[in-house]
Amino acid sequence: MKISLCCTDTKTEPWLEGLRAALPQARIDLWQPGAPPADYAVVWAPPQQFLDEQPGLRALFNIGAGVDALLKLRIPEGCRVVRIDDGGMAVQMAEYVCHAVVRHFRELDGYESDMRAGRWGFRRPRTRTEFPVGVMGLGVLGERVARALAHFDFPVNGWSRSPKALEGIRTFSGADGFHDFLGASRVLVNLLPLTPETQDIINRDTLARLQPGGYVVNVARGAHLVDEDLIALIDSGHIAGATLDVFRTEPLPAGHPFWAHPKITATPHTSARTLREESIAQIVGKMQAMERGEPVAGTVDLRRGY
Ligand code: NDP
Repeated sequence: MKISLCCTDTKTEPWLEGLRAALPQARIDLWQPGAPPADYAVVWAPPQQFLDEQPGLRALFNIGAGVDALLKLRIPEGCRVVRIDDGGMAVQMAEYVCHAVVRHFRELDGYESDMRAGRWGFRRPRTRTEFPVGVMGLGVLGERVARALAHFDFPVNGWSRSPKALEGIRTFSGADGFHDFLGASRVLVNLLPLTPETQDIINRDTLARLQPGGYVVNVARGAHLVDEDLIALIDSGHIAGATLDVFRTEPLPAGHPFWAHPKITATPHTSARTLREESIAQIVGKMQAMERGEPVAGTVDLRRGY
């Protein structure tokens, strides 16, 4: 079995060592232009040239959950695209989102600035029923996040493409269910994949449909959100603020209004990091399943885009 590793923006040596240790019988090389084609590839943001040089590739293993950037490239005919599903990301996403929601709900930023100013004062406790949380996307990450929020007794709504039944979560689906989902939610958490259908989905209209005093947590992709619409709705008072982990351009450009906006908390695309050891074990397991002709979880539907 020949495997080519082609990852930009990533320290490749530990991936190479880990894959070689897990698959000692395979030939695993770092891709160089003009290298012989491989059977499988492990990639992150590969150049088009890499894919063009792999006519017989059986599968591309993306070392992340989101494949939007990869699917902008021409994928070799007959090649499957497989992503990391969970691999330790779901629990990270759950802790990040719960932290953001609880921090907002409990007004912890306000308490922190009070204490720094030497003020000992209480705020009126808010009730959870006033803070229904809507999770867009109920896949591997969204479902885990929705369940984690429900453990804190927030009313949780979930929205997905196909109908789902999840205990303790009020579910909505498809375009028909979208407006009802938004109207039932005050906090909006985005865990959708970025596809032509979901690009710009958090816009003026969507935000206006949230309950007054809404809050946004975007942990999926920057291009889901229309930046200026969020700022306009925060400035109008309809949206109370946002926690953003992903941006249209990353790193967030100097001078972008999100850097300094007092009601926006920003982090550098770090809510759920790819964990190397877990991911290598998952990729190797999936390659072996594929070799045995078994179905492989996390296989991307190229037509749907996720
Ligand atoms: P999944 O593919 O497992 O789940 C996607 C969910 O979105 C599914 O429930 C799907 O519905 C739903 N969905 C897709 N398209 C639509 C649509 N048009 N309308 C309604 N629902 C839709 O993805 P993951 O949970 O693994 O990951 C989600 C995203 O999180 C990734 O694509 C990536 O962009 C982002 N991410 C961000 C990270 C970060 O560090 N910030 C880290 C990892 C991922 P259905 O179930 O019906 O198919």
